[in-house]
Amino acid sequence: MASAHEQFRNLAWKCGLAATHQRQVIYEAVIATPGHHSVETVYAEVRRRTPSISLATVYNNLRLFVEHGLLREVSPHSSMLLVEGNLAPHHHLICTRCKAVQDLEVADFVNVKKLARQAPRGFDLSQPLVEVFGLCRRCSAKS
Ligand SMILES: [Zn+2]
Ligand SMILES: [Zn+2]
Repeated sequence: MASAHEQFRNLAWKCGLAATHQRQVIYEAVIATPGHHSVETVYAEVRRRTPSISLATVYNNLRLFVEHGLLREVSPHSSMLLVEGNLAPHHHLICTRCKAVQDLEVADFVNVKKLARQAPRGFDLSQPLVEVFGLCRRCSAKS
């Protein structure tokens, strides 16, 4: 298993992004913990190593990472940016009350061929991602 450092250098090189030290720190803050991260949580983590960094810098780099495919945006239509380092195809379970997002690792959950037949002509199904809404365990226990 390559170190987070090497992993970033390889990915950045593959995606055509300059691997600066600042970007390295931001990327490592995301992949250090599995799951879905808001800009604020990444910012808090990055500041422990680089106190002078600004929230805007973190945000801009996370956007850049998503654009270049180093990270995945959890919900592109959501008003809040959430990113994750898990690039393997997977779906999301979203709690309608607390907005918590959990991964659903079922590869054949979506029949892409069938979906492609139903999609409007010319629509390229690049990321068949399903969002399933419901109540997470904590919220359903409260209700
Ligand atoms: Zn919940
Ligand atoms: Zn996910």
